[in-house]
Amino acid sequence: MVIKIKQRYPTWRHKDGSFRKFGKGARSCVRCGRYSGIIQKYDLNLCRQCFREQAVKIGFRKYD
Ligand SMILES: [Zn+2]
Repeated sequence: MVIKIKQRYPTWRHKDGSFRKFGKGARSCVRCGRYSGIIQKYDLNLCRQCFREQAVKIGFRKYD
């Protein structure tokens, strides 16, 4: 008997079951848990959306 356990996998999970690795393993946004558009630069681990909100507070400047 096979019991299917619902697990939250990132949408970009590979067919063979392995996870795409970003540096030290797969990451999700530390703020909202999103898996897409993660910015790992400077050890932020924030998604693009959160980065935009946090950027100013962290001290990044917007260059338009
Ligand atoms: Zn986020």
